[in-house]
Amino acid sequence: MANIFNFISFIFYSYLYFLDPDHKMSQYYKKPNLTVLSHFKSIVGEENYFDNIETRWSYAFGGINFQKKWIPDLVLIPKTTEQIRKILKIANKEKIPVTPRGMGTSLSGGQLTPYAGIVLDLSRMNRIIKIDIINNYVELEPGVICDDLNNILKTQGYFFPPDPGSSSVATIGGMVASNAGGIQAFKYGVTKQYVLFLEVVLSNGEILKLGSEVLKSVETYNIKDLFIGSEGSLGIITKIGLKIRPLPSFRKLGLFIFNKIESIQNIAIKIREKGIIPNILEFMDKSILKAIISYLKGDFLNFPEGYVLIIELDAENNKVIKEEFEEIKKIIDINTPIFTKIAKDDTERESLILARKSSLPALSKISPTCCVEDCSIKISDFAEIIKKIEDIPEKINAKNLKVAISSHMEGNLHPKFIFNENNPNDLEEFKKAMEYLYLKIIIPSGGSITGEHGIGKVKGEFLNIKLKNNIIELMEKIKRIFDPNQILNPGIGKGDKRKLILRRDARILKNYKGAILKLNCMRCGFCVKHCPSWILHNTETYSPRGRLSILNGLVYGDLEFNNNIYDIFHSCTLCGLCVEKCPSKVNTLSIFEKFRGILHS
Ligand SMILES: Cc1cc2nc3c(=O)[nH]c(=O)nc-3n(C[C@H](O)[C@H](O)[C@H](O)COP(=O)(O)OP(=O)(O)OC[C@H]3O[C@@H](n4cnc5c(N)ncnc54)[C@H](O)[C@@H]3O)c2cc1C
Repeated sequence: MANIFNFISFIFYSYLYFLDPDHKMSQYYKKPNLTVLSHFKSIVGEENYFDNIETRWSYAFGGINFQKKWIPDLVLIPKTTEQIRKILKIANKEKIPVTPRGMGTSLSGGQLTPYAGIVLDLSRMNRIIKIDIINNYVELEPGVICDDLNNILKTQGYFFPPDPGSSSVATIGGMVASNAGGIQAFKYGVTKQYVLFLEVVLSNGEILKLGSEVLKSVETYNIKDLFIGSEGSLGIITKIGLKIRPLPSFRKLGLFIFNKIESIQNIAIKIREKGIIPNILEFMDKSILKAIISYLKGDFLNFPEGYVLIIELDAENNKVIKEEFEEIKKIIDINTPIFTKIAKDDTERESLILARKSSLPALSKISPTCCVEDCSIKISDFAEIIKKIEDIPEKINAKNLKVAISSHMEGNLHPKFIFNENNPNDLEEFKKAMEYLYLKIIIPSGGSITGEHGIGKVKGEFLNIKLKNNIIELMEKIKRIFDPNQILNPGIGKGDKRKLILRRDARILKNYKGAILKLNCMRCGFCVKHCPSWILHNTETYSPRGRLSILNGLVYGDLEFNNNIYDIFHSCTLCGLCVEKCPSKVNTLSIFEKFRGILHS
């Protein structure tokens, strides 16, 4: 019965979607009028208030690797909890949507604004307030970047373990809001395990302090945890207390390649049976390895084709590592690897880790768009599900779409679909592949439709099918307690019936063709924090990623050229740091130089 209801509601919301494809849904929300805008300006100050189209446009994008014209009405850059409290009070009264944003690297579109409204850019609330080594915690503002925190902690022999592939740019606020994990989750877990306390501002401006500085307490319901992974839909996180751990002194890493996918599953299960817990246990399929070999070249050219498993052990005691690694080697040898490489020193370790971290840029070289999916399964289903995912292009009769898969071996898979978003046929194939993945493989296996990236604005449609009605209703009730007017991050499938089906539009190049040939930008944002003009100007707009978004808008005829845009491109110092930091090796320097040339001519 529940399934029939879910199916009918899926059809109903799909129908609504086609009636209102741009999801303006203006009956829910208001556009801020001039008086309201002036209130916001006086709260954050003129320098942190942006209503011009260039800035709003550059905030319409983020880590998600394709274009959708969801342009916010306003971008505000608050610096204090008090400013956020005042902004929310007004927005709530006026029914204006508010979408919090860290560095915008979410891969599920959590930072995007389908209902327009306000983007709260929290990346400038980035103070580390306290480092308390004795009690093993830090207190910080949400905009602190994960790697920046760890660089400081390292000097004191400590670390904050969750390490998403985006750790060089992801903010702690964004990580808490999406409960981010990373390649060390097998041993150290995900962000949730480290959050001691939170300060959050609710939609009515009320400030809550949740959790406490002590390690154990059962005084209240676990309200704090409701906000972890809530993707900005329940409140704005303004302060965070995080547990930290001493850095392990020793580690040992190996990379192994196998012919059979079953070997990978056997090894993961056997290692756990032995009670050994590697800090890294990571899988990459044949397609990713092939892409990495041709991307990194060098020693990687000697690697055979096959399924890859990377294993690392860390500990305080080198003897323990040696003994456990011996045990692991025995398990591996039984499964007949076709290639083995044990890192002899830190340089070799870094190079093997780099291979794991290069999967996205390497795949992005194959076709312009690489969409990273995220789902969780039981480890006992691993080999069977990987085979089913590899077969997706054949099952849906795809001509162009390719698939590649990596996985954290706690069962968190990242299938990646590679295609050309400018080709309508490819988009259709991608849509079918998503449906096949979630509806035919993951949900029937009892898996989760997201392990760490969140529902965001891309998977709401599948939640209706996955969850039981009473859970959907309970989530709606919880949402209404904290955000009765539904102004906080609308479009996130959690607690909100209006689930979005993300429409991808094929677009046709219109102008300035020469300037953007071979863009290959994944919008990961790795360039942003190093850019001198981003540091100076406060907004995404003045970052290399922001400039590329604007250029993209011009090229496809979505944006009109104006004097502000002229300034945005001329404020680039051409220092080239963005090119150095770009994993896809996008030559922003030459693109911007070329574009300036076009403007002058
Ligand atoms: C190359 C690459 C690799 C990645 N690898 C991983 C990985 O290994 N593991 C993983 O889990 N993720 C990964 N991600 C996804 C993403 O980087 C993480 O989810 C990250 O935690 C997001 O941080 P952010 O600062 O960019 O947040 P944003 O993208 O800006 O926001 C993420 C979500 O949190 C909300 N939010 C942000 N700040 C706040 C706040 N202060 N209060 C309330 N809500 C807030 C936003 O509304 C949004 O819903 C990867 C992304 C990229 C581009």
